[in-house]
Amino acid sequence: MEPLIECRVLKKYFNTDSGTVQAVDGISFSIFPGETVGLVGESGCGKSTVGRTLLKLIQPSAGEVLFEGENIFDMDRNRLDRLKRKMGIVFQNPYSSLNPRMKVADIVAEPIRTHRKYKKDEIRRLVIGLLEKVGLNREHLTRFPHQFSGGQRQRIAIARSLSLNPSFLIFDEPTSALDVSVQAQVLNLIEELQEQNHLTYLFITHDLDVVRHIADRVMVMYLGKLVESGPVPEVFESPQHPYTKALLSAIPGFEPGIRKERELLEGEVPSPIDPPPGCRFHPRCPVVIEKCGQIEPELKTNRQRQVACHLCEM
Ligand code: ADP
Repeated sequence: MEPLIECRVLKKYFNTDSGTVQAVDGISFSIFPGETVGLVGESGCGKSTVGRTLLKLIQPSAGEVLFEGENIFDMDRNRLDRLKRKMGIVFQNPYSSLNPRMKVADIVAEPIRTHRKYKKDEIRRLVIGLLEKVGLNREHLTRFPHQFSGGQRQRIAIARSLSLNPSFLIFDEPTSALDVSVQAQVLNLIEELQEQNHLTYLFITHDLDVVRHIADRVMVMYLGKLVESGPVPEVFESPQHPYTKALLSAIPGFEPGIRKERELLEGEVPSPIDPPPGCRFHPRCPVVIEKCGQIEPELKTNRQRQVACHLCEM
């Protein structure tokens, strides 16, 4: 099967007053039609930057992103506009991503109006259909975002992201700002919509428990690099990278098969302005050896699994 989206050696550096932030530093992956791929890592690892660069919401520093085989960084504006209708993104905080002065009808209809020529009543019909898909209804059309709960606002954001009938959606921490009880409902909705609409997802989250429930494959990111990836059942059962192990051991009540004792992550993610040499994880790694501070481990592949660690055999 051909990938729907393929990312090749993607880099995104930000130039700031304090130096160059290497937010994403050469990562490659493919996502296949119908898959849900989870992208995980602590805050500041570069997950959101990957998401935003994939959709060219921000300019890449280097690399390629192929959507249905075409490099989106290398196409004219018209072509990119047409392609972008097939991709959408839902952000963490629906309150800041929904215009507070617009009614729901207009928020959801806006992408349709921008891209397609429909009559007023056709648009209204489409918008009602979209609201119904996400568990809202026509009574909500004339309300403003502040009149909804957090979960409902996220439903509105999802309805809007579906308005142009996309094939690929990125969810960037879509449930992290919601109450626990509401999180499950929104995750269920996201799963149902995938089945009904044949969608492919990239699901960005710091919460591995969410990934375990929603994703087919998981990619673990640390300080701008991919350190491990593979099918969710395999990675959760037998994590290879010490960083993945530490993240998993922090899930309450979860004991991966090989785990004997908890490995808690100490300290914080270092600055991506001046990342550690060698393996970027080495200053926090519980099993570090001398080589780790000197030579960067390559990302080794064995069938569906990948890992970048000097101590992991593949
Ligand atoms: P995550 O989504 O994993 O929390 P981000 O992609 O948001 O990580 O950020 C990765 C790194 O890039 C962080 O160090 C963050 O401070 C930095 N960063 C993100 N956006 C910008 C920006 N516009 N300018 C400068 N630095 C940025």
